[in-house]
Amino acid sequence: MHTILFNSFWPGFQPSTYTPLDDHSLIIHLEPCPKTTPRCSRCHQPSPLIHDRRIRKIRDRDLFDKRVELHLLVRRVDCLNCGRVTEHIDWLRPGARLTLRMIAWVETLLPLLPISHISQLTGLHWHTIKTLDKRRLEASVGGFDPGDVRRLVMDEFALHKGHRYATVIMDAERTRVLWVGEGNSRKAIRPFFEQLGERCQQIEAVAMDMNTAFDSEVRQHCPQAEVVFDLFHVVALYGRKVMDRIRVDQANALKADKPARQVIKQSRWLLLSKRSVNSILQCHIPR
Ligand SMILES: [Zn+2]
Repeated sequence: MHTILFNSFWPGFQPSTYTPLDDHSLIIHLEPCPKTTPRCSRCHQPSPLIHDRRIRKIRDRDLFDKRVELHLLVRRVDCLNCGRVTEHIDWLRPGARLTLRMIAWVETLLPLLPISHISQLTGLHWHTIKTLDKRRLEASVGGFDPGDVRRLVMDEFALHKGHRYATVIMDAERTRVLWVGEGNSRKAIRPFFEQLGERCQQIEAVAMDMNTAFDSEVRQHCPQAEVVFDLFHVVALYGRKVMDRIRVDQANALKADKPARQVIKQSRWLLLSKRSVNSILQCHIPR
């Protein structure tokens, strides 16, 4: 009876023995069902020439309150088409240390829990779960699909407390991320335009901060596109470059009038503040 039950868990294999590893874990030894012909993992053809058998240790989903480790007897075969290969197993990816069932379980937990909690729950290493998460995200949103994008938004953001940067490029109309790359130089963002290819010609406008690297690269690939600097950076730069220049010039012009010069020199934040500053300045500047 137990053979029929377990065959449905591990098609093509049957348990031979069970060994309790400790109070919380169980080793299940699996061997190929008798009279089954292994199949080549590349061409999937039956390959009766068995070269050798090896034990592989595989994690499966928990059974009741026990962690399950499978000790699986895997055959290597000499396929007439492909040469020497490991046999195909329906429920295990080639070289994997987790069954597809275990991977599916982790993937259902990933949108619900932080990786460290899943690690505690499953006993899997943090990095193992992170790798599964990356693969899951790659499969669901990783493809480069810009569609008929016409308006782009580009922005840089700091990685690791500001010592390194990355760039994100979005579709402005669909508010969807199209591409993320490390770095904020012209070279760093070039792969996006290379992938965009002929569709560069359909870009009408690109919004960005006042980063000359972005500006130059966009003009090279999309010469027809309008570059739109975002208002925040225009105002910030106006405050920094224009207002400061005028303030310094005014301070220099008032060299002979030390108290007035002092007020101008100390007025940087006053001038940049939102409130109307004329009245305040008029109170302070001696006539
Ligand atoms: Zn083959």
